[in-house]
Amino acid sequence: MKTSKSNLPDPEPVIMAQKSIGNPSTRCQSRRESSGNILSRFTGRSNSTLAQFFEHAIKKLQHIQVTRHCVYCHQSHSGHSAICEHCLSLIPQFDYHKIEGDLLNRPEIFKLFPKAKFDRLLAITPHQYPLNLWLTQLKYTGSLTYLTHISALITEHLKRLAKVSSSSVIAPDYLVPVPIFIKKWQRRGFNQSYLIAQQLARYFDMPVDNDVIFRVKQNVAQVNQSGAQRRKNLRNNFELNNDIDLRGKSIWLVDDVITTGSTLNEISRLLKAAGVKTITAYALTISL
Ligand SMILES: [Zn+2]
Repeated sequence: MKTSKSNLPDPEPVIMAQKSIGNPSTRCQSRRESSGNILSRFTGRSNSTLAQFFEHAIKKLQHIQVTRHCVYCHQSHSGHSAICEHCLSLIPQFDYHKIEGDLLNRPEIFKLFPKAKFDRLLAITPHQYPLNLWLTQLKYTGSLTYLTHISALITEHLKRLAKVSSSSVIAPDYLVPVPIFIKKWQRRGFNQSYLIAQQLARYFDMPVDNDVIFRVKQNVAQVNQSGAQRRKNLRNNFELNNDIDLRGKSIWLVDDVITTGSTLNEISRLLKAAGVKTITAYALTISL
């Protein structure tokens, strides 16, 4: 069973003008001299006049900057991200300073997952506006707009994380989305965890590994159930692909929202039993 690639196209930021031309006055120095000699032969003008012409043209070119439209507010901005600084500042994000690139090092997060079977936890925000709305819209409408917002935020989050803790953003051996049951995939048309993993795959320049683990049973409703009951329900829901040797490998396990962590724990238990060395759980949000 495979959750095949969604037919949603890849979102890309809108580039409204040419890319930055760097430092044209330096780059064009030698070209300016040789062009000047050739042109002066045809125009009869002195090299110094032509040099002035080029200086003037270069100064004009220096004013051309990258202009993008923010994927969220659609205002133009000159930053390097698909989402503008203003919108980013409005989204409450977890602070990764002094926690060595692992949310489990934060006491308030650690106490939510004291029996975590994964080694490390990464998420962008608590499960609140606007990301909770974007996720719901993506899940139930398949809206490309919200996928664009989410993808931009993931890229920005990874860049920020790499600045704070570069060792925590290294490409794993396998990038594995939490699978959904085939009937649910049939109805929905895509697996949202796969779409999230696709964005991580673009960042790491690696494939999404959709064949490492399969969901062979659907969950029964878990609301109001104890932790022990949830764990029992999840047993036998997943199967590993025995053709893949996972011994000593590193894995990023990708989900959309972490609530109790039961699903990630159950998959992590299987992966560890198969010899996986390190598991990083990556989710967009955490229900606190
Ligand atoms: Zn914006």
